[in-house]
Amino acid sequence: MLFSKLSEYYDRLSSIASRLSMIEVMAEIFKDASANEVRPIVYITQGVLSPSFEGIEFGMAEKMVQESVALATGVPKEEVEREYRKLGDMGLAAESIKKRSRLKRMTSDRLTIMEFYNKMLKIAETSGSGSKDAKIKLLASVMAEATPEEAKYAAKYPMDALRLGLGDATILEALSVAYCGGRESKDKLENAYNLCSDLGLVGETIAKKGISAIEKFKVTIFKPIRPALAERLPTAEQILEKMHGESAVEHKYDGFRCQIHKDGKKVKIFSRRLENTTEMFPDIVEAVINEVKVDRVILDGEALAYSEETDEFLPFQKTIQRKRKHGIKEKAIALPLHLFVFDIMLLGNKDMMDAPYIERRKALTELLKHGSILRPSTMIITTKPKELEEFFEDAIENGLEGIVAKDPQAKYVAGARKFSWIKLKRSYKGELSDTLDLVIVGYYIGKGMRSEFGFGGLLCATYNEKRDMFETISRIGSGFTEEQMVELRKTLEKVAVKEKPVRVDAVIKPDFWVYPKYVVTIKADEITRSPTHTCGRSQEKSGIETGFALRFPRLVGESAIRSDKSPEEATTTKEVSEMYKNQKRVSLKE
Ligand code: ATP
Repeated sequence: MLFSKLSEYYDRLSSIASRLSMIEVMAEIFKDASANEVRPIVYITQGVLSPSFEGIEFGMAEKMVQESVALATGVPKEEVEREYRKLGDMGLAAESIKKRSRLKRMTSDRLTIMEFYNKMLKIAETSGSGSKDAKIKLLASVMAEATPEEAKYAAKYPMDALRLGLGDATILEALSVAYCGGRESKDKLENAYNLCSDLGLVGETIAKKGISAIEKFKVTIFKPIRPALAERLPTAEQILEKMHGESAVEHKYDGFRCQIHKDGKKVKIFSRRLENTTEMFPDIVEAVINEVKVDRVILDGEALAYSEETDEFLPFQKTIQRKRKHGIKEKAIALPLHLFVFDIMLLGNKDMMDAPYIERRKALTELLKHGSILRPSTMIITTKPKELEEFFEDAIENGLEGIVAKDPQAKYVAGARKFSWIKLKRSYKGELSDTLDLVIVGYYIGKGMRSEFGFGGLLCATYNEKRDMFETISRIGSGFTEEQMVELRKTLEKVAVKEKPVRVDAVIKPDFWVYPKYVVTIKADEITRSPTHTCGRSQEKSGIETGFALRFPRLVGESAIRSDKSPEEATTTKEVSEMYKNQKRVSLKE
């Protein structure tokens, strides 16, 4: 397929206002493409060059893209900059300049998708001294060959500004429609995606080998599995009830999620967001080589700083200091980590994903030497609420966050928040004690004192997994420091869009809509019902439609934006609905 054709499709996608139509257009693209092109198309549509764990990035700042446009069109840099400021979008600026440029190309029959993608990869791979100029020239060479429409996407792609509005779930459904004739195979495709975290690979597999190959998908060493997540419940009784009377209960450690892949002396570590964090943890890599008895294994665990002197776990604020690019070795000595291993997904060549928890737990305790860094998470098995509560209290006394209860018979549920894992954190009494991770979908311009920052607050949403939509739950106007206001304004300006994004469901209108990309942590006193929001919206007896809203919401956390969560990993509408029910139960009890 020609890149100009894909650009036309993208233009169509950008003008669509319903998710269902987006699925149809995306499916059309796949049907129109050859099997080899599906993988690059998936990545380009996701706005990436490859899955995040491969860490391949363009390394092109805004100014560099501007220079490429100037170089390709013969238009002075200053004019490109002016056009960018005027239109507020580098893609539109490139398109408009290209239309006017003397050097514009009239035909669109040259650049194929493969050529386009390979050139983009080459830009990312160019590194070292002189790479800045080389990157600019490479992008300029693509732009010079491009039609104005192609130039638009060629400028947006390296700036992570494609913003087609499609989430991974939409792409999966489109693959199902294109290759299986309907949306029914989406779950199978999603399962394969959960096992390899590489949507391009899933697309290529179904395009080349069909659904039977997707059904046979297995975990692969060095391809991260999308991590299992926990639901929440407020009391020991409810947890045990949900677990059919018996539960394994583990300490909940508040540190870095580490998914460890080991093959001989080669070790890779992936974060909760599936980024490759191996470089950050040389001490854990060494410990995995020395303290794990088997050669080939995939383990799940949490790393956290621990003081040998006081025999205490250190708070997350300390552990987070290990997240750095420089001075890694020194910090590893100053702040040693322990890795608490709590699951195993591959043992030798045996896929452990479907084995019951209890069997996986046995396997993992057997393969750990009694070393000093790796240890199994502390665990009990209980049928008694009182025993569970005591274990919980013990965790809190030891400076931990709480507990995670686990269904002894459940398999490892990749990529999903299911009741096979249930977390219980400190007090659930009185005010809403747990925080919510919400997606920013809009922002307000400040009034009065705030106007000097050009920032007055956020409009935030939960993620509704079933609808694959973001539903508003709250306007947030407090908890911001001055620095955070400046930071938020700067960051959000770049993702501001004119119209409400397709996957956002809202009845109120912020001063500016923003593309759903960033997640913030919010604390509130209570969840209430309100007609202003769409989160979990339903009709009351009175006939009025209400959704969930937050009372006294405020931003928490040192850095405003949570870099470890994607919008689809935010608190879900279902979770809010559960929290609302639990809140009612607690207040009824009191
Ligand atoms: P939270 O903010 O509560 O940590 P989260 O959204 O980051 O929530 P959850 O799925 O809610 O993640 O909670 C599970 C997280 O707890 C895991 O991602 C993992 O990092 C951490 N964790 C700590 N100890 C354990 C344990 N023993 N078993 C499973 N997960 C654990």
